[in-house]
Amino acid sequence: MDTFRTKLPDGFDLPKRLQRLSELAYNLWWTWEPEAARLFGRLDYDLWGRIGHNPIRLLREIDPQRLNQAAEDKEYLAVFDHVFGLFDAYMNQKKTWTSQTYPELNGRPIAYFSMEFGLHETLPIYSGGLGVLAGDHLKEASDLGLPITGVGFMYAEGYFSQRIAEDGWQDAINNTLDFKNLPALPVLDHSGRRLCVEVEFPDRIVSLGLWELHIGRIPLYLLDSNLDQNSESDQQLTARLYWSDLDRRVMQELLLGVGGVRALRALGYNPSVWHMNEGHAAFLTLERARELVAGGSTFAEAIEKTRAQNVFTTHTPVPAGNDEFPLWLIEKYLGAFWPQLNLTLDQFFEIARHQMPQGETFSMGILALRHSAGRNAVSELHGRVARRMWHFLWKEKEESDVPITHVTNGVHVSNWMARRLMNLFCDYLGEDWYDHLDEPDFWSNIDGIPDADLWAVRLHLKRKLAFYMRERVRDRWTQGGFHPVQVVSSGVLINPYALTIGFARRFATYKRASLVLTDVERLLHIINRPNMPVQIIFAGKAHPADEPGKQLIQQVYRQVKRAETGGRLVFLEDYDMNLARYLVQGVDVWLNTPRRPYEASGTSGMKAALNGALNFSVLDGWWREAYNGYNGWAIGEDREAESQGIQDAQDAESLYTTLENEIIPLYYDRDPKEISREWMARMKNSMKTNIPQFSTRRMVKDYVKRLYVQALPSISAEEGKR
Ligand SMILES: *Cc1c(COP(=O)(O)O)cnc(C)c1O
Repeated sequence: MDTFRTKLPDGFDLPKRLQRLSELAYNLWWTWEPEAARLFGRLDYDLWGRIGHNPIRLLREIDPQRLNQAAEDKEYLAVFDHVFGLFDAYMNQKKTWTSQTYPELNGRPIAYFSMEFGLHETLPIYSGGLGVLAGDHLKEASDLGLPITGVGFMYAEGYFSQRIAEDGWQDAINNTLDFKNLPALPVLDHSGRRLCVEVEFPDRIVSLGLWELHIGRIPLYLLDSNLDQNSESDQQLTARLYWSDLDRRVMQELLLGVGGVRALRALGYNPSVWHMNEGHAAFLTLERARELVAGGSTFAEAIEKTRAQNVFTTHTPVPAGNDEFPLWLIEKYLGAFWPQLNLTLDQFFEIARHQMPQGETFSMGILALRHSAGRNAVSELHGRVARRMWHFLWKEKEESDVPITHVTNGVHVSNWMARRLMNLFCDYLGEDWYDHLDEPDFWSNIDGIPDADLWAVRLHLKRKLAFYMRERVRDRWTQGGFHPVQVVSSGVLINPYALTIGFARRFATYKRASLVLTDVERLLHIINRPNMPVQIIFAGKAHPADEPGKQLIQQVYRQVKRAETGGRLVFLEDYDMNLARYLVQGVDVWLNTPRRPYEASGTSGMKAALNGALNFSVLDGWWREAYNGYNGWAIGEDREAESQGIQDAQDAESLYTTLENEIIPLYYDRDPKEISREWMARMKNSMKTNIPQFSTRRMVKDYVKRLYVQALPSISAEEGKR
């Protein structure tokens, strides 16, 4: 891999002693090592907050005086040396979980393709759970020493910022990203020019440049069509996530699947496993087959040879949620590609033909399933749903034998856990507690933490959330044009000592954000009880083309802004990873009301659980596996109702009753020290059952054991033949 290189940009005028700060700014390791993040923050907390935790901007914009002071400040330098000690040890670690458990993976890169990656709020190239999962997957892979390489897109505009107008309507603001302030470096070829790969369309060729990001020990390559040699409309192909018009959508996916494989080849990679995070990248299976067809294989032989190394993760329990393209559209854009597979057009369509109500389509889900040996859903229930949904592809088998397994999702713990809590764990569980993340027995030690200490941390985190909301409002108010109703709706009246419920997620209709508003009078009564107030914080974006989603936001906002709520219902604008962190760390209860079984997994509740919040959720996705009757609460039962209307009504009733009779009384049942002992017992039970089970530590290990290493023997066999 000597044909490319990247170079840290010049232009950081740092004192010699602090020179290495720029190196750290370009490795996202700092985002999940709290001490490293503080190293930037300490330089200038005010600026750090104002520019949204962007270390590259910080180093460019900070007053040089402050840097000089820091370079002389013994206390700062001690932290600096400590952090770089950790960084160097991390980057050079030889004995990792992978090297010790699966040495055969050494030198066998795993390619991980995803349409989005949620790594940090300064890099808005994600829209929701799928991206955050991909980001957490890479971070954990780095921690475990797994030789993984990510492939995705660098979106020129990123995902939109959300504003909520006074009438509750969502405004989408598209920002052009300033790449020079992002931790992405252009990949150059050996002659110092931009390394490019090409994808052919029937009437033209589209070039893609590459950006390299460092996620701890592993690289992530992002494709970008915004190059001079492309037409203006082609430059736009990678400008945004999920174009809603199908033309651009199919072109984008062709760039990801085909361009992504070519990018890895240009970089000198020969991956042993090709992991598709959702079907958007499924064209990669065809590009890999094309490589072999070009070498003389038939298409059938090529697929047979490559299938064993492909792994496909499905996240979509609804048939319509999978990308399906009309056949004419495929013919229109893949016209230069499919002939290279030595197939007729009809044979090509046959690969992924799907009979849908609206006609025949080319299904990315079918394409990925047929051409992958490893296939998984993202929770146990989702596995069952996926086997039922795709049974028609394996007609000869019983439904339960459909070869789709499941690996339940997880979250990257140090990315999501509050630093205060990690410090508490250091005190009571030992400095090395992080090495025991996925060991259930270890976590029974949680019981040894005094209630008062854990409660003090929880209160601190709640106050932090309240202050954060207030500072956001102050900013918006100062900018002008912010109506008093918006001020109140943004959480200024929040009481940091009252029971606080969080509901934050994409506003897709199946998530039923308005379920809690089914009976508004009953809800008003619940939240306004004099000695037992309850607050609910909503947040979330709707895809800009999703009209029902935007109407749902408006419906929620209409209630939020009513005076009768006393400011206890709140809607926070612009849900992103930063806001998510404050919410999952600061609320007491995490509410989730999907219409079962459409959640697939869900991950935000896991983030809340590891911070000590209690989940109150429909028994769907991960929560169906996690709930033990004591570590939180269930909404509804472990089954689906006869109709959506009935299910909605039953779930709403269950939600209100449990809130009224169980959650609220329990929270306010205080002893003389103002602590609810029963609440603390449940909190501890939730932490010790959920942390070991729903972290990416457990998840990535599962992927390695159950899907990645399965792909290896066939490679050895193939290599043996050569
Ligand atoms: C974790 C996360 C999600 C996914 O949460 P769900 O539980 O799947 O709703 C979405 N958006 C952001 C910003 C997140 O941090």
